[in-house]
Amino acid sequence: MSRTSKTTIGTINVTTLRDGERTLPLEALKNLSNEDTDEINSNENQLLTFTNFNACVIQNGKQNLLVDTGCGNLFGPTCGFLLDALNEIGLGPEDISDIFMTHLHPDHMGGAINENGSAIFANANLKLLQEEHNYWTTKSFSSDEINGQDWSNLAKKVLSAYGERLELLSNNADIISGVSIIPLPGHTPGHAGFRVDDGNESMFHMGDIIHVPKLQLKDPNICTLFDVDAESALKSRKYALDMAASDSLLCTSGHMLEPKFIHIEKYGAGYAEVS
Ligand SMILES: [Zn+2]
Repeated sequence: MSRTSKTTIGTINVTTLRDGERTLPLEALKNLSNEDTDEINSNENQLLTFTNFNACVIQNGKQNLLVDTGCGNLFGPTCGFLLDALNEIGLGPEDISDIFMTHLHPDHMGGAINENGSAIFANANLKLLQEEHNYWTTKSFSSDEINGQDWSNLAKKVLSAYGERLELLSNNADIISGVSIIPLPGHTPGHAGFRVDDGNESMFHMGDIIHVPKLQLKDPNICTLFDVDAESALKSRKYALDMAASDSLLCTSGHMLEPKFIHIEKYGAGYAEVS
């Protein structure tokens, strides 16, 4: 099965790259209603907590921007296929001119470096929000934190691999021409999505506001253990989903299942995919 899905926004090509897939353990989810828990437990295939790990490439004719770099070899045999996905659309790592990291979690940066710590995308400038950089490089972590020292060490390794090609962005910056940042703090302090706008067409990448789409669209109060600040993450989740629904924006995200590009609408206390 293909690892890529393509769309065009005006003259800009957007292609999602499925790095891998996995079922999240129930313990990774918080704020589940009793109804949600019963539904998950009664579902033998655990389809409700199934997720994908997606990167994407945005091509504006001048630059090939890679958004996130997949899991690398950190998440086992069902993940780490970013380069295969890129190859499907005729691109090698050397063709990537820019990388934007939505945030510095292992499933978004693991594929940026080789086992020896060197940069896989040798010609790419690495861009991320200043705030995300500061969080992972200056905070001291206690040993029981999930967003902890191991992840901080990995972040520092990735950042140093791209050393002189690192570019720290402000909240209202353009990543490349036609692609502008939408800060969505909470999942991590400098977590961000972005919009692609060209002519009268637009697309919204919502970053990691949702990890298990089948559950969290319907009930956005569900969050994961991986949120650094669950309250702000919930605010950002609702803000992003509201914007996508009210502006009828084509949207995608880091953990979207198939189809990768959807429209959503308000439905009950949550949201639903527009069919
Ligand atoms: Zn993620």
